[in-house]
Amino acid sequence: MAEYLFNEPRFHDPEAAREHLESVRWPNGPICPHCGAVDRISKLAGESHRAGLYDCGHCRDQFTVTVGTVFERSKISLDKWLFAAALMASSKKGVSSKQIERMLGVTYKTAWFMSHRLREAMKRERQGNGLARVWRRND
Ligand SMILES: [Zn+2]
Repeated sequence: MAEYLFNEPRFHDPEAAREHLESVRWPNGPICPHCGAVDRISKLAGESHRAGLYDCGHCRDQFTVTVGTVFERSKISLDKWLFAAALMASSKKGVSSKQIERMLGVTYKTAWFMSHRLREAMKRERQGNGLARVWRRND
């Protein structure tokens, strides 16, 4: 397992994690998950908005990069998700919930939930619906 990988900011900083996810999911700029628009999308900035919130000028809906991914509406921060996903993707033998618990500093219950959700997502991805390449190393 390449330990150096896990020093990267995206595994420890929710903001860096979100930016990473945006660059992987939207290499050519944001895409509205509601209507598929790629233009007239504006970033909502300011204190009153969550970071990474976009507004679609076509359907007037708002979204973030996690809409439609396994990370959507999760209370677990995105950097932890990416960390767990990278751990799982980089280990040939598989990663136990116990290991995730220890490395992420989350409860066992959370670790168990994360590994199940990620495993499901990886399975769907292999089945070819192209859900996301988000848990792959981007290099
Ligand atoms: Zn839209």
